[in-house]
Amino acid sequence: MRLLVVEDEPRISKFICQGLSEAGYAVDATYDGKEANEYTLSADYDLIILDIMLPGIDGLSLLKQWRAYGNHTPVLLLTARDSLDDRVEGLDTGADDYLVKPFAFTELLARVRALLRRPPLQIDNVIKISDLVLDNKTHEVRRGGHLIELSQREFMLLNYLMRHPNQILTRTQIAEHIWNFDFASDSNIVDVYIGYLRRKIDRNFTPALIRTVRGMGYRISTEAGNE
Ligand code: CA
Repeated sequence: MRLLVVEDEPRISKFICQGLSEAGYAVDATYDGKEANEYTLSADYDLIILDIMLPGIDGLSLLKQWRAYGNHTPVLLLTARDSLDDRVEGLDTGADDYLVKPFAFTELLARVRALLRRPPLQIDNVIKISDLVLDNKTHEVRRGGHLIELSQREFMLLNYLMRHPNQILTRTQIAEHIWNFDFASDSNIVDVYIGYLRRKIDRNFTPALIRTVRGMGYRISTEAGNE
């Protein structure tokens, strides 16, 4: 497995590269957007870790360029804490996942493993779990063929769950990804929105796909049956 790390802050780049090497991955590093593009033309990577703010070309423009040219290598974006727009744009542009700085290396590694496990080529931007289908281009969600109207937040939440099938997502992870704030443990906004989603995608259908994992969080399940 060969990974490319595109990050212009030497300290962060070193931290990522060292950890990934120790975990057994072959790692190339570049600090510049233009150079990153040349790297991707000369080698085949299994995954690219891409910072957004870069000298040369910024990460989102690079990603757009790659996707437009048919390069579908999985991309994990690194984003600043206060840039929700960048994250949304990044996912719309074709990023497979993102991580907010600062992050723990263990989380980066977990995301990398998950992305490398994922079957390649989700070119059409459509995610399907059981009879639930989410289209990232048209923003349409259907279950059993029925069109389901979701608010923007609900769509983001469902998208996040569906991009991590069977994986437990904690309330904190969900809150940080969807609402972009440090999660206050007395807030029940995640549970409220999970409730909204359940009413729309699970209430009139079987099996229920959104599962509560007691004491931990939520996951969307690809298997039938209750727990
Ligand atoms: Ca940067």
